[in-house]
Amino acid sequence: MAVQNGLFILHDLHLQLASVQDELNRGPRMVKAKENLLAKRQVELDAIKAQQTERRKLADQKNLQLKSSEAKLADLRTKLNMCNSNREFDILKGQIAADEMANSVLEDEILDAMEQVDKIKTQISDAEKAVAVAKEEINKATSQVAAAEAGLQEKAAKLKLAVADAEIILPDDVKLVYRRLVAAFGAEALAAVDKGVCTACYVSLSPQQAVEVRSGKIAFCHCGKLIYLKPPE
Ligand SMILES: [Zn+2]
Repeated sequence: MAVQNGLFILHDLHLQLASVQDELNRGPRMVKAKENLLAKRQVELDAIKAQQTERRKLADQKNLQLKSSEAKLADLRTKLNMCNSNREFDILKGQIAADEMANSVLEDEILDAMEQVDKIKTQISDAEKAVAVAKEEINKATSQVAAAEAGLQEKAAKLKLAVADAEIILPDDVKLVYRRLVAAFGAEALAAVDKGVCTACYVSLSPQQAVEVRSGKIAFCHCGKLIYLKPPE
């Protein structure tokens, strides 16, 4: 059973190595995800700022409009004071009333636009905070990943050596196939056989395969995996 036990150990080392490598890959992925989040927050901030610029422009335009309308009104009032026909007087009065009404609407609109600019100011400060938080998260994640990396690399290096040691049980002709399997499937190159069933493909071994495995020979499942007997718990 030395070979079977050796294969079990080899598989276990491969699984440990894969998990360390997963952890090593997870770090940069986590940082990348946080960078994506920052980019999103930045876009949100820019959009709100653009909204504010637009509102301000609108308020400025309406202010200009109001000023020119007020100048026109002053003009009409001068004319009203100097007019000497009743008909002209009535027309001017009507125009002044209409313009005053339009100006009061304009004043409300300007107030409204200024209020919105103020509201957007709060939104901008919130969005700026969100950007700062996202940046801080990236810094935190980056230093976390950097702090863990050296230890994980060391673990991986040790496991690689242990895997190489454990491969000694493989005869040279099997080693070639095994290398190809590892290149293709990583730790899943090996599969335990549990109660006569391959745990990779869940198909029962043929009677001949079962005999081979039980007698300690190196065997492959129909799914291609290098199989070994699951040791008793
Ligand atoms: Zn299988």
